[in-house]
Amino acid sequence: MTLPSTADVIVVGSGITGAATAAAAAARGASVVLIDKEEGPAREGSGRAQGSLRVQGRHGAEFPLAQEAVRLWTEAAEDGDFEMVTGGNLYFRTTDEELPVLRHLVDEAHRAGLTDVELLDAERTREIIPCATGPFQGAMWSPVDAACQPEKGTAYYVERARRAGAHIAHGVKVTRLLEAGGRITGVDTTAGPVQGPAVVVGAGVWTPHLTRTVGLKVPIMPVIMSELETEPVEPLFTQTIRAFGFGARQRPCGRVVVSAGLNAKVTHDVTLADLNGLRLWLPRALSFRKNLKLHLDTRRVLQQIRHRSTLSTGLVPDISPEPWVDRPLVDASLARLSNVIPELRGARAERYWGGLVDITPDGLPVIDGKAGPTGLTIITGLSGHGFTLGPVLGEIATDLSLEGRTNRPIDDFALARFTEGSVARPEMMI
Ligand SMILES: Cc1cc2nc3c(=O)[nH]c(=O)nc-3n(C[C@H](O)[C@H](O)[C@H](O)COP(=O)(O)OP(=O)(O)OC[C@H]3O[C@@H](n4cnc5c(N)ncnc54)[C@H](O)[C@@H]3O)c2cc1C
Repeated sequence: MTLPSTADVIVVGSGITGAATAAAAAARGASVVLIDKEEGPAREGSGRAQGSLRVQGRHGAEFPLAQEAVRLWTEAAEDGDFEMVTGGNLYFRTTDEELPVLRHLVDEAHRAGLTDVELLDAERTREIIPCATGPFQGAMWSPVDAACQPEKGTAYYVERARRAGAHIAHGVKVTRLLEAGGRITGVDTTAGPVQGPAVVVGAGVWTPHLTRTVGLKVPIMPVIMSELETEPVEPLFTQTIRAFGFGARQRPCGRVVVSAGLNAKVTHDVTLADLNGLRLWLPRALSFRKNLKLHLDTRRVLQQIRHRSTLSTGLVPDISPEPWVDRPLVDASLARLSNVIPELRGARAERYWGGLVDITPDGLPVIDGKAGPTGLTIITGLSGHGFTLGPVLGEIATDLSLEGRTNRPIDDFALARFTEGSVARPEMMI
């Protein structure tokens, strides 16, 4: 793989963050190189997402970004086919205890100007989703939310970057960020160095390994979420569905993608890296201990001992191994979904997969162009809901790389929040 020796913007990671950044920066006339260690795009988080492009049910600070992102996804769908469906999002309520949570989420949405978000009783919910003939109490509804096939959406943005002139390099690992005199000057890679005044790191769970090379600590805990996909069934619903215990969407081909939904149980491989930032993680781990399955990853611990480091870039795998899948968890979610949509009873699961999620201590992203050397932008910690945001993250990273500032509201996502004052605890595990 031959890399250009220089670029205006060097982007690390061809998940949705990096792909959308490369496309936006190249469209604005910059010379761009997009580098990923894997052999193609979307091999990590972005290719494993459920594919809900969800606006509702977010922290207030994320609403403006999510609204713009869904608008950008909708415009992109006129240019490429990635199974985009705008069917709205339903949060099903199956118990009384969930009502205060959903009321709070509706209030947050209204405060952000999303006045279409509303609470429905079961009868009105069934007018929107007639196949939901099983027992439930109501739902929270947002008509603007959408869905797409995530690996196709990411590949679309990579292709769009290529069309706009970006150089795409798969199978190349970035081993170090380069800086001189407080400015970023490029990156070192397994295919040689690339020099440039702006570097965007969208490296998902591996971001802390790279930022450490310029002395920046980014608190990310990798956890695994699981999904399944059924055999094709008759067309039943176009909405994305979320609830405590299940989440789903139906693809245009009839397959139903099922996740464990709100506040899902996740798996974390315990390693020596967990000793970094214990102050930040312990409160979250303790309050969500029922949602956290811990496995000791002895192979990784031995590697860390051999490297005498928990964050060396030598510990970033060239090709990431398949994450462990919690099949019983998502089988149970399919059973709960089938309780609400009885026509899904008997639908066979044909594919299971797990994906690494980059969670932060407060469950909010890190979007920051000021934390490190001038010219470095970090976008990570998308905490299990960042696929939606991809296109707007690309615009933000481009603003920061080419203009040094952005008009989009990102102050709440600064890395400094983890070192200045107390850190808010999220309301749910994921
Ligand atoms: C099971 C699951 C379900 C999800 N469902 C949804 C959903 O429905 N809706 C939603 O909005 N979000 C969802 N998410 C979250 C979403 O997938 C992520 O927030 C988003 O895809 C992260 O994108 P990214 O580009 O930042 O990171 P990634 O997609 O993880 O990409 C990072 C890339 O960086 C590359 N990389 C890392 N280190 C290096 C290096 N040193 N050199 C070169 N390349 C490197 C990796 O190979 C990788 O390709 C889900 C996640 C999972 C796992």
